[in-house]
Amino acid sequence: HLYEKGLEKTNRSFGEKLNAFFANFRRVDEDFFDDLEDLLIESDVGYETSMNLVDALRDEAKLKNAKSKQALKEVIVEKLVGLYENPGEEDEGLSYNEANKPNIYLFVGVNGSGKTTTVGKLAAQLKSQGKSVMLVAADTFRAGAVQQLVQWGERVGVDVVTGPEKADPASVVFEGVKRAHEQEVDYLLIDTAGRLQNKVNLMNELDKIKRTIQKTFKDQPEETLLVLDGSTGQNAMSQAKEFNQVTQISGIVLTKLDGSSRGGIVIAIRNEMNIPVKLVGLGEQVADLAPFDTEKFALGLFK
Ligand code: GDP
Repeated sequence: HLYEKGLEKTNRSFGEKLNAFFANFRRVDEDFFDDLEDLLIESDVGYETSMNLVDALRDEAKLKNAKSKQALKEVIVEKLVGLYENPGEEDEGLSYNEANKPNIYLFVGVNGSGKTTTVGKLAAQLKSQGKSVMLVAADTFRAGAVQQLVQWGERVGVDVVTGPEKADPASVVFEGVKRAHEQEVDYLLIDTAGRLQNKVNLMNELDKIKRTIQKTFKDQPEETLLVLDGSTGQNAMSQAKEFNQVTQISGIVLTKLDGSSRGGIVIAIRNEMNIPVKLVGLGEQVADLAPFDTEKFALGLFK
């Protein structure tokens, strides 16, 4: 329900614009489609995606002879969901493999995007579902990052594996995976450093972490999650593109959508990069992290 509460905020701002637009338009003519396209671009749905969406809407509106506001809204919802969902992919939630414990989730993203907070929130939620969780503080680069994760561990009541200051992140990960095997935990959540300004270093570091996991334990991350600050709009999109070149990303966590008017970025990322948004961050509290549901999102726009 918090999910709905938080998302309503996002939707309200993006949705408010849409609703106002629908309340004011008179005729379904070229101006209508042009104005709608502008509105979508303004809401960070992205240029390409907005064009595709409006083109599809134009065709569909003609085909169905949809002239009423209600009929057009239905077409928008249908198209948004259609744009977002991948045919053939049913469950896009976080992957979990009971036979492959620990399930390793690697969190990547630039500093300040909300990585550590997301790891903390997810740990709390998984623990309250009865799962065992261990954290690894592999962001040995940013001063304070390790301490911040340790605090989350204390708050949630889960172990945090740390190394000495400026330790090699891969060595901390090695220790973490080893302990996670020994203790047979369900989940191992790894917080990494996000130095995008030095792409080669970052690439080497993430490669080394993945190789350590693979070589030593024949494991691989069940998820590599890119954490992006949703309130930065198109900037989040360019980060997604850059990170995707650095390492293979299985899903995106879009944070700070509470109160952001840029909710359209969810659709843009999915459409332009074909990476599912798996979780959304809707505040700073433990409960403010939720799975992303396209249909709810699209329907919520017209509440
Ligand atoms: P990191 O550097 O990527 O690990 O980022 P942090 O986890 O330290 O988060 C940076 C700041 O963003 C902190 O003040 C968090 O409390 C805040 N934050 C993280 N996620 C959210 C969210 O979903 N909503 C809001 N409003 N703030 C968030």
